[in-house]
Amino acid sequence: NLISFRGINRVPDIQGEERLQQNIFNQGKNTGQLAYTPNTSYRSRALKGPNSRIGTGLESAIAKAIRDAATRGEKPVFYSAMGTVFNSCQEAWDFYNLYSWEIGFGIRYGRSRTNDNEYMTKMNIVCSCEGRPEHEDSNSIRTQCKAMIRLLRTKDHGWYITKFVGDHNHPLSESYGENKQWPSHGHIDSRTKDFIRKLRENNVSIGRVCSILGVTDGSSTIRKEVVRSVCAKLAQENIKDDIEKTQQLLEEMKTKDPLMDVRLKVNKEGRIKSMLWSTGKNKLDYKSFGNVVTFDTTYRTNLYNMPFGLFVGVNNHFQSTVFGGVLLTSETTKDFEWAFSQFLSIMGGKAPVTILTDQCAAMEAAAKTTIPSARHRWCRWHVLKKAKEYLGHVYSKYNTFKKEFHHLITYVTSRRRFELGWISLLHQYNLGGNRYLKRLFRKRAKWAKPYFMGVFCAGMTSTQRSESANHMLKKYIPRAAPMHLFVRKFSEFQYDRQDQEDKEKHLTKLKQKATHFNVPIEKHAKEVYTRTMLGHFLRELYESGAYAIADTSVDGKFILVHTSEDNDPAACKTEVKLAADKKRISCKCGLYEHMGMLCHHQLKVLVHLDQRSIPEHNLMKRWTKAASTSGVGMTTGAAPNHGTEEARRSLLVKMAMELATTRDIPDEEYTSLMEAMEKARSASRDKSNTHNSKIQTMGLDKPGISLQCPLRPAKKGRPQSTSLRSWQQGVKRRRNIRTGDKSMDRLLSEDEKNPRGGRTRSVQELL
Ligand SMILES: [Zn+2]
Ligand SMILES: [Zn+2]
Repeated sequence: NLISFRGINRVPDIQGEERLQQNIFNQGKNTGQLAYTPNTSYRSRALKGPNSRIGTGLESAIAKAIRDAATRGEKPVFYSAMGTVFNSCQEAWDFYNLYSWEIGFGIRYGRSRTNDNEYMTKMNIVCSCEGRPEHEDSNSIRTQCKAMIRLLRTKDHGWYITKFVGDHNHPLSESYGENKQWPSHGHIDSRTKDFIRKLRENNVSIGRVCSILGVTDGSSTIRKEVVRSVCAKLAQENIKDDIEKTQQLLEEMKTKDPLMDVRLKVNKEGRIKSMLWSTGKNKLDYKSFGNVVTFDTTYRTNLYNMPFGLFVGVNNHFQSTVFGGVLLTSETTKDFEWAFSQFLSIMGGKAPVTILTDQCAAMEAAAKTTIPSARHRWCRWHVLKKAKEYLGHVYSKYNTFKKEFHHLITYVTSRRRFELGWISLLHQYNLGGNRYLKRLFRKRAKWAKPYFMGVFCAGMTSTQRSESANHMLKKYIPRAAPMHLFVRKFSEFQYDRQDQEDKEKHLTKLKQKATHFNVPIEKHAKEVYTRTMLGHFLRELYESGAYAIADTSVDGKFILVHTSEDNDPAACKTEVKLAADKKRISCKCGLYEHMGMLCHHQLKVLVHLDQRSIPEHNLMKRWTKAASTSGVGMTTGAAPNHGTEEARRSLLVKMAMELATTRDIPDEEYTSLMEAMEKARSASRDKSNTHNSKIQTMGLDKPGISLQCPLRPAKKGRPQSTSLRSWQQGVKRRRNIRTGDKSMDRLLSEDEKNPRGGRTRSVQELL
């Protein structure tokens, strides 16, 4: 029945090997009579062509075998019968691999032959046990097994089996678990590989990858070791040509977003020292919300162990919004100075009013010199985080400490009460000797609320904001990411932020907050503020209910007292002043200056006076719905009436199509049109030439130097000199010294300098 198989004849060959004859041209015609041409005719040296059948639409051998499975009887489903035709070599491999799974062995590619035209004419696929072990005494599964299939080409560039050996000289696997151990069955196909790459790029651990692929529960034939080695290979691939990939990515980003700015600082060799970048949206956001900026750094986000600094602000929806990111080689004052000054120059020189950083002294010094106008404060979040680290034992020992400590630094706004509270806290928990707390108290003006109530912080110091750079990025960026992946993931992170912002915009537009107090000023607040800020406003309005106006004076001064009796009346007394024109209201508590939202005292007075709207000078634009409307212009750019760049492109194509297709074009019109187009084309070419240097690189002014990646840090672990090998050499040398063999000693010591022999390759060479 082999003879009738798909128009193939079987003829015994001189060597006794079964050779197959094939009538390619008659395939599908079903003539019944088959042509009989000698084998050699289509193994001619002149053969050339594609690597596999193209677009033949023929059923694959695997599908055919499955279809015919019922009629096979005792025979394996994927019996690799002689003459079986495949569309490609890969298909043949897959087919034979399935057969080997059924039988219980593994396969690999054997010898092949390629002719002068680089056209493969012969391919052996052999049993994994084929061949001899490399060394007599090495551990090897090779037993010189002869089982194999030999593939030759069909005339239409497919393959067919010309030789099949089915006997093995070794035991076969009998169970699923054993079968899995053959490398060919644990093989990961390219689609799965892509999937693994995606997972790894998204910070999924190898263990999780295995469990997603079903490796751990045995539902997949893939083994953990294989996944591991694939992951290692992917990581290697990722690292390769990192700088080229990064440059390409940045250029791409820049084409999509013409407002984007990238600044690089390189050393003499062209190696990147620092890199700072901001997208168009970042810059526009900075315009609206750049008066308060927090800056802090995070580690272990990239392969080069470069600290990554993040400029973050808060938008009108009270969300963190990114202004820019900077990769630094080290964290010296000089590095920060570069970062801050470049950041300011990207943002058109507009300095923030307040800059909040962590407790890093270098950052503080850099901020002082580069942004002298800005007030520098410590970020409350970092202070608390450090406190948790240093005072962990106190936190866990007394459960009341956390509550009292946090209350003290969150709600107390009077200096006297803060200082008294601090001292009593130290006394109560016996913390008088704590050095960290001593330092904190000494530097209280840098972080404690009472000392900068009048400093505008846009709520960045409030409890709701708990987002350090590390906190925000760790979900997005895999540890030890190469630079291009880092940049890509960082921009993905930004898209995600944008998405959150769009959601809030949508909700602000459509979701109305219920009216709670029904006072006229509430209605006005609802009109102007975004949803989140309206929430803040309503909370303050609620608080205002607890105050009573104790005294008023003619010049618009109001004395307010908290009605609750438990509170210290002296501390709860405050003075509110309304300007004569009713366009400004001020309060001694300083909350408005700090946050930009009216405090409860001011609201109490405004409600008392039945004011219908928030005073003009107390309505900060950055919290209103209208704050970021300038962002709309980002995509429209220079030609606002033609929409986005994409829209402009399609409009251009449409116009050209219309001109070219709707009617006859007279000669003179054709010439003039072509002239105009040619002119536009050459103009754009000139323009693109001048815009070539898209990325500003500092220090790379010599033309012969190309950009290079930063150096990778040395791997941690046992230093080379303590390795077993050098220990052995040390023993040898000592022995030689004892025996007096000086020449051997010299030889060995030279050898030891370079144990691998030859040149030692540096890390960047390997990259
Ligand atoms: Zn075998
Ligand atoms: Zn107040």
